[in-house]
Amino acid sequence: MNPDDGRQLALCPWLNKVPGEEKYLCGIYYDRPDDCKHYPVTIEQMMDDECEMLEVKDLRNPRQAQKDLDKLMADSRPALEQ
Ligand code: SF4
Repeated sequence: MNPDDGRQLALCPWLNKVPGEEKYLCGIYYDRPDDCKHYPVTIEQMMDDECEMLEVKDLRNPRQAQKDLDKLMADSRPALEQ
């Protein structure tokens, strides 16, 4: 939400385009909120968000994909309770 007018923002205000490149970086990466540090938490969440990092094998076996995601994110967030 925009604190000035209360409208929903289309993009995070901290997402900055790298000049001259088709690339974006977080402008507050080291101080980003926990939600950002922990995202994505679940494969279901990635599906809901239409995450382009999901592969066909993840959709075919979401249980294994969740295990792989938990391993990948182990340093960034606590793993889900099994
Ligand atoms: S990581 Fe979080 S704060 Fe940084 S650009 Fe993405 S949504 Fe915004």
